[in-house]
Amino acid sequence: MRARGSATPSPTDTPSAGAITLRGIVKEFPLRRGTALRALDRLDLEIARGEFVALLGPSGCGKSTVLRLAAGLEQPTDGEVLVEGRSPAELITAHRLGVAFQEHALLPWASARSNVALPFRVAGRQVDRERVDALLELVGLAGFEDARPRQLSGGMRQRVAIARALALEPDVLLLDEPFGALDAVTRRRMNLELARIWMEQQITTLLVTHDVDEAVLLADRVVVMTGRPGRVRHVQQVEIPHPRGSDVTRDPEFHALVDRLTGMLDDPEPAAAAS
Ligand code: ADP
Repeated sequence: MRARGSATPSPTDTPSAGAITLRGIVKEFPLRRGTALRALDRLDLEIARGEFVALLGPSGCGKSTVLRLAAGLEQPTDGEVLVEGRSPAELITAHRLGVAFQEHALLPWASARSNVALPFRVAGRQVDRERVDALLELVGLAGFEDARPRQLSGGMRQRVAIARALALEPDVLLLDEPFGALDAVTRRRMNLELARIWMEQQITTLLVTHDVDEAVLLADRVVVMTGRPGRVRHVQQVEIPHPRGSDVTRDPEFHALVDRLTGMLDDPEPAAAAS
């Protein structure tokens, strides 16, 4: 396994500990008149340190709910969620979680630099200007430090959001359709950027996407969920070696995997297929 850029020892830092563990997760949302919608049903998922996992599945199967559980934004109805051996709430308090969603939620009046520096301010820490500028360079925005979000393209805004998620050197990065609003060409370029950034940082990453190419290009493992209520239907190891550049998309293995996973998504799963 490649060394991570920033190892942060914790009391639970054992070699066997997963970075993200979801065990027997049931998630129900209350509806009117005492009924409930079961979004997840006994979902198990274990993500190793430094691993990049992509979550695929039909719309409404609970992908975002999984991410929101890992981010501590939702509580499971049943089951256990651990991130780096701790509850997501503890990780948030310790500012060890980096999160970027489709809605990048940048401060519109603040420069790219101030947006990336925001987590330092939220954490009550002195802004590390050097790190902020290094991150802007990492995501290809050197020279745009003083630009406001409206002066940046959609792809550039997403890069600011990713730089911001990386600001405090998180242990875990949670990405929910971070490129969902982009056109296909920009999206592919951003995928390649993210692949490069991930090679440099080696942060445990959980990506929710509906884009099969994106999942195979980026992930060590692709987890396919069943329709609602969501469970793990299939786990696909992606053996294509890193670093993965644009040439990967011409690799027959890449296409074989994309076809296989696309076929799975097109095909309603057999009733007892979940593991
Ligand atoms: P996905 O990301 O796979 O499209 P979601 O995790 O967003 O799916 O949602 C899974 C299911 O849970 C959907 O049917 C959705 O309508 C429902 N759901 C999600 N959040 C809530 C909520 N806060 N209240 C009620 N239902 C919700």
